[in-house]
Amino acid sequence: MVALKLLEKCGVVGVSSISKEGVAEHLYKALYSLQHRGQEAAGIAMLEGRDVRVYKGLGLVVNVLTSDVLSSFKGCVGIGHVRYSTTPGVTIEEAQPFVVKNPRFSFALAFNGTITNFLELREEMARRGMVFTTRTDTEVLAKLFAKNLLECGMDYVEAFKLTAAEIDGACSLVLVNDEGELYAYRDPLGFKPLCVGRVNDLVVIASETCALDVLAGLDDCEYGAVNPGELVRVCEGSVERVRIASSPRRARCMFEYVYFARPDSVFDGISVYRARERLGRELARRFPADADVVVPVPDSGRAAALGYSLESGIPFAEGLMKNRYVGRTFIMPSQELREEMTSLKLNVVRDVVEGKRIILVDDSIVRGTTMKRIVRLLRRGGAREVHVRVSCPPIISACYMGIDFPTKRELIARIMRLDELTKYVEADSLQYNDVDGLVTGIGLPKNELCLACLTGEYPLAKSYEFELLERELRKE
Ligand code: SF4
Repeated sequence: MVALKLLEKCGVVGVSSISKEGVAEHLYKALYSLQHRGQEAAGIAMLEGRDVRVYKGLGLVVNVLTSDVLSSFKGCVGIGHVRYSTTPGVTIEEAQPFVVKNPRFSFALAFNGTITNFLELREEMARRGMVFTTRTDTEVLAKLFAKNLLECGMDYVEAFKLTAAEIDGACSLVLVNDEGELYAYRDPLGFKPLCVGRVNDLVVIASETCALDVLAGLDDCEYGAVNPGELVRVCEGSVERVRIASSPRRARCMFEYVYFARPDSVFDGISVYRARERLGRELARRFPADADVVVPVPDSGRAAALGYSLESGIPFAEGLMKNRYVGRTFIMPSQELREEMTSLKLNVVRDVVEGKRIILVDDSIVRGTTMKRIVRLLRRGGAREVHVRVSCPPIISACYMGIDFPTKRELIARIMRLDELTKYVEADSLQYNDVDGLVTGIGLPKNELCLACLTGEYPLAKSYEFELLERELRKE
């Protein structure tokens, strides 16, 4: 079977103007604020006259959605997407939004997550003669929805119900159709964030609340979560919400709170910034150390370092400075690029670290190579001791729900014991938060979080041969 390019970490947005003003610029701004969720491709799809028109390209929002592109769109309802692919060679065809057109309807959809049973669904649809032009779960989802739409006599809500019952995995989705309707759907476990709100005369759906804040500027905006299992329909200014799928539990991705989401976002009622600060406090309670200063790894460890400092009473200081024009290392597609970027990215503030015993706080250790470089950097800057504290517990399992993780073999916590890792990164001590500290810090009950990459217990509805799925997703 052909290996599939699928894993992605994405951001979605949908905007509908009640006063029928053009929304291209609003989509652009919202996507721009979600750029941290995907940097390899961007696109928008809008209702233009009676047609759903799409524009997408490889690269950053600012490079793809130029002023010429934006001014060619006049529609008052549309969706947008930013994408990150784990494998090199991402193509335009695999970027989103994905459009389906036939003589009876047209729509475009974009989603964040991974449809974990897409192989099964694709095989089933291929048996019935359906042709696929990409190897993505996005195409499977779009074509499944189109098939269900025809079977339901063009009733979008019924088609969503049918589709929701057939798919498994993580799915935070937006859809615009040729009737000018905007839909949003979130899977019943609620893996990925999705919110809905009003900004002046706009109804906005977005992966994160920061996108709504950006559109509001200094004006007021109201927002709340698209609840797990909920379908939102926006049409002519009205917003209808209906639960179409249910689950006995929730599985919000803990990593959104720990690292992915922007700290100024609120994910299902919880401030991401405050969650990170509490994670730092939990670390300080559980894993104290004698030290002179708490230093964050910028920017990912900042809120947790502040929490550690507040809880321990040890002063906080910025001992590392970041070159803001270099992207985040975790989402660089190759190890080579990641390593190159790390050395360009950080410099030490000698005056803060020289002769000091340092507590170095970061959100997570995935491969361990970045941490090793940072510890070395601090020592070269004159640090006397370096005690590493990590707000996320050891990551030992792959993610099949839409997050790019390295192969299992690259996960350092799988291959090294704590004492070995401490030695490897050349720290004086190293401690991870434990799962209880993580759950307490986030502030949600354990059965409302996905912790699968920490525990290996996957909260999916169906059971999978993970070895096969992992191979298919090119994880090994
Ligand atoms: S496995 Fe980890 S990264 Fe993936 S959804 Fe669950 S918590 Fe998030």
